[in-house]
Amino acid sequence: MVKSDNLLTDAERNRLNASINVLNQECFFAAMTSMFNNRGYAPFSEVGIDPTFIGCGNIIGNFNNPVLKFNNTDCMSTDVVEEEFFHLFQRRMYAASSAITSANYSAALGFLEFEAYLQRDIKTHIKSPIFIGTGYNFALKNSDNTFQAQYITWLNTLTNNRTKWPTTIDFNTYKMWAERFAATNSKYKNFGYTFNINLPPNALISIVNESNCSK
Ligand SMILES: [Zn+2]
Repeated sequence: MVKSDNLLTDAERNRLNASINVLNQECFFAAMTSMFNNRGYAPFSEVGIDPTFIGCGNIIGNFNNPVLKFNNTDCMSTDVVEEEFFHLFQRRMYAASSAITSANYSAALGFLEFEAYLQRDIKTHIKSPIFIGTGYNFALKNSDNTFQAQYITWLNTLTNNRTKWPTTIDFNTYKMWAERFAATNSKYKNFGYTFNINLPPNALISIVNESNCSK
């Protein structure tokens, strides 16, 4: 999903490839990358290191020609690589279906971010016997205990008690949790995400449906 890694040093390239190799063992990531290639979606034109932004991974450049930046080599973790690659998949798929355009892209950002969080929360929920611990992205980590418990209950429902990936997600419930995520996640609540467009998690669902994940 990256066209050129010429900006990376050998050590940086090795770190990135190590994460990709780990992720390729996972049903969701493997399905996502093969769909990406089969559909002929345009990859990141470049990948590089840029220590000037806040956070670990960032997609810069114009809407049609995004560039992937990591803050530093340690940021090339499996979590960050998976998230940024998923963001590129979302952008290509939703642009292809006209669900998002360069004009409404900023209005879609809250949904795009929550969908990425939910994907990893589902994955971790299926894999982990302990909910809140290391390795969890956990969209509701800054919410209060009541909402966290309700979110976990929803994850239990989505995953058939941690056994399967969901093949459908009710949009109104999804939107409610997306709004709560945006309001309480300390990293994102200042972004002023809006949810005025209907953007159901079709990237997540379509990847699951084409994957070998239990579902
Ligand atoms: Zn993100």
